[in-house]
Amino acid sequence: MIPLDEARTRVVGACSPLAPRRVRLGDATSLVLAQDVTAPEDVPPFANSAVDGYAVTVSDVASASREHPVILEVAGEIAAGDRGDVEVRPGTAVRIMTGAPIPAGAEAVVMVEDTTRLDGDCVEIRATVPAGSAIRAAGEDLRAGQFVVAAGTRIRPALAGVLASVNALEVEVIPPVRVAVMSTGDELVDDGSPLQRGQIRESNRTMLLGLVRSIGAEAIDLGIVRDDEAALESVLERAAGTCDAIVTSGGVSMGDYDVVKAVLGRIAEMTWMQIAIKPAKPFAFGMMHRGQRSVPVFGLPGNPVSSLVSFHLLARPALEIMMGRSEPCGAPQVIAVADEDLSRRPDGKVHFQRVRARYGTDGRIHVASVGAQGSHQLAATALAHALAIVPDGEGIRAGSDVTVLLLDDLT
Ligand code: AMP
Ligand code: MG
Repeated sequence: MIPLDEARTRVVGACSPLAPRRVRLGDATSLVLAQDVTAPEDVPPFANSAVDGYAVTVSDVASASREHPVILEVAGEIAAGDRGDVEVRPGTAVRIMTGAPIPAGAEAVVMVEDTTRLDGDCVEIRATVPAGSAIRAAGEDLRAGQFVVAAGTRIRPALAGVLASVNALEVEVIPPVRVAVMSTGDELVDDGSPLQRGQIRESNRTMLLGLVRSIGAEAIDLGIVRDDEAALESVLERAAGTCDAIVTSGGVSMGDYDVVKAVLGRIAEMTWMQIAIKPAKPFAFGMMHRGQRSVPVFGLPGNPVSSLVSFHLLARPALEIMMGRSEPCGAPQVIAVADEDLSRRPDGKVHFQRVRARYGTDGRIHVASVGAQGSHQLAATALAHALAIVPDGEGIRAGSDVTVLLLDDLT
């Protein structure tokens, strides 16, 4: 058996980011930027009002107060989107809305709450304001020529907004990785037909397709492949020709019918691993070299819980690297409080126990077992928010800290 870190390093180290592609900004959110971006123009592009109010000269309102208001003539009105070709001369004010350009001659904006509109196009001003008050200067967010963001940054929604604000309507990104997902096994049924003795319903593929999508990758469903070498070989070859990565489930352990091992051993450069973890000890990783392309193959074990754990620990970080993300990637690791004993026996392996997690009133994450921990018992695991990392030994006592991998939101 090899330590998980060694397996992870080998798998992640063999994968590299896909070639960048130019996409419309609307399709870029959550992808990794593959270019530096500089602002071609000021943001905001012109000085504008931060409030709804009256644009004034500072000297006109220098003495204004609640008790001694100043009365000014209203010389015009500017809404957001107007050109604002009106001038503020001494003794006058211009009604202005948030985002509207500051008119010539104006030195500050008095907010509408400190004013009262009077009959005869006049306004009473009840507050004095310093020069520049409620004026947002041109370029206050970004200046023309300013560096905005570096290649390698993930485009979260606010950054997509910034890119829109600097007119970057197309950007170079690392595209989502196209991942072919297939399950293997003669016992698997997914067409709703009654189960014959020896058959089971297929579940891993549905789960894995969702997991692949949940990390922002594109999932391609290649269905169930029978335990038949020729069939498996042709599906794998087709996948290698059209996808960036392949995830298989089943057929990588020690069984006589583990045809995945036989076929991949022939058509890919493989590493077979026995990893010192429970669940998900067997794992196969390989590369299918086809011309210029090298397509990684993640051979996950067939037991559904093992498949899930293996995906998160090994396939997920590698697929994230292929999408240009940087370490630490994979499920985020945090320290939580064990609300109950997370017991185990020493066996030379690190155990990944499935736990529910919630925020406690102490502001920390608290975890408790989901119950059944068998690698075939997906129903209990399906309620887990996290994997508790329980090192070799007798387990973790209630009240102790435990490191967990967060698989999802705590809702
Ligand atoms: P294998 O890794 O192929 O030896 O399978 C290990 C166990 O997982 C067996 O009990 C299989 O029946 C089960 N299994 C394999 N693939 C799937 C699948 N796609 N869905 C549900 N169970 C599976
Ligand atoms: Mg099998």
